[in-house]
Amino acid sequence: MQYGDCVKSKPLLLLNITQLLTMRSAPRGPRRGASLSDLGIIQDAAVLCLAGKIVSVGTTKDALRDPWLKKSHKKVTDIDCRGRVVLPGFVDSHTHPVFVHPRLVDFENRIPGANYEEIAEAGGGIRSSIDGVRKASKTALTQKVSLVLADLASHGTTTLEAKSGYGLNLESELKSLEAIRAAAREWPGTVVPTFLGAHAVPPEYRGRSQEYVDLICNEMMPPIAKRKLARFVDVFCDRGAFSAAEAAQIFTAAEKHGLAVRAHIGQLSETRLGSLLRYQPASLDHMDHVNDADLPALARSDTVATFVPGANYFLGLSKYPDARRFIESGVAVALATDYNPGSSPMLSMAMAMSLACTHMKMSPAEAIAAATINGAWALRLADRKGSVEPGKDADLAVFAASDYREIPYWFGANRCALTIMNGVPSGRLPS
Ligand SMILES: [Zn+2]
Repeated sequence: MQYGDCVKSKPLLLLNITQLLTMRSAPRGPRRGASLSDLGIIQDAAVLCLAGKIVSVGTTKDALRDPWLKKSHKKVTDIDCRGRVVLPGFVDSHTHPVFVHPRLVDFENRIPGANYEEIAEAGGGIRSSIDGVRKASKTALTQKVSLVLADLASHGTTTLEAKSGYGLNLESELKSLEAIRAAAREWPGTVVPTFLGAHAVPPEYRGRSQEYVDLICNEMMPPIAKRKLARFVDVFCDRGAFSAAEAAQIFTAAEKHGLAVRAHIGQLSETRLGSLLRYQPASLDHMDHVNDADLPALARSDTVATFVPGANYFLGLSKYPDARRFIESGVAVALATDYNPGSSPMLSMAMAMSLACTHMKMSPAEAIAAATINGAWALRLADRKGSVEPGKDADLAVFAASDYREIPYWFGANRCALTIMNGVPSGRLPS
């Protein structure tokens, strides 16, 4: 279940694309190893989109000779992409958009040296966002999420996963997921909702995390599943958050309710992955601390390791996840923003890619695959998203660049000129 299926769109023909990154001919399953670098580039390309779907992909020359297009040209809106790169819209597979206030005190306290756990102890961190969400109306939260969606689209993101997780009681988790649904309905892109009741133990359950886990499984999950308010259940499994045993209990309940699972893991400390891989999570995210012995099992699975280098950057860490170790072990990797008010207030997938190139030794091509087709795998949407191929959703991003490597190169500036979401353009190319 995801939102973004019922939008109206006009026929579009994108022409004169300097480089079209199709990401086509993906092997079965997510991209791994050398296949991460295969962008399927077509020079001087064209893409025809009808009824929100991509119907043909080829060269501009071929498109202009197409008999159907010649006959129907009046009905089709041309978009001349001269001098620009087009790629699949980014799939941001990890965001926390339902919050009210930026965490400016945490930001400032971190500068002289307070760490993640010290900030949490001082009343900051995840818990400090709870108050704002609990007091906010659903309408106010919906407006906040809508602003984020518009901002994401302007940066080239056409599909995102959106987590609850700052309500942490039944009423406010429902309100957060309803706000995601209401905002998604007004947005032409695609939103995949995730229930993250297990983000932190709320203050009223301090020292009683087992009782809170029982509440998640027995009180929160049934109405969320029944009302189809989430597709995934997520757990923050780490030191100071939830244990692997608690995560397994939550995953068992999710399975019972027909919800797929994913987890935050290995951000602060190492957790062995074996007990969680049994639940076939779509994605395991952060992955800063992972035991070498777990990599073969991860590589044999379709579980994607999703890196969120924006969090490492914003927390001022010198260490980033060792992406090469994962890629060379055959693990499928993705990149996401982890957009959230505490550790990664970053909307830009291009910036995430830039950090992956400069701090994680990923090549620009690998970073693009990780931000598109493998992000789609991390959301189990690869049949519809993440590549530019006939039959897939018309989700495209047009960048003011003549070479794809410019996308992570020009960091700190948004060079996305136009985004197309399910066939609906957002933005306008300068003529
Ligand atoms: Zn997160």
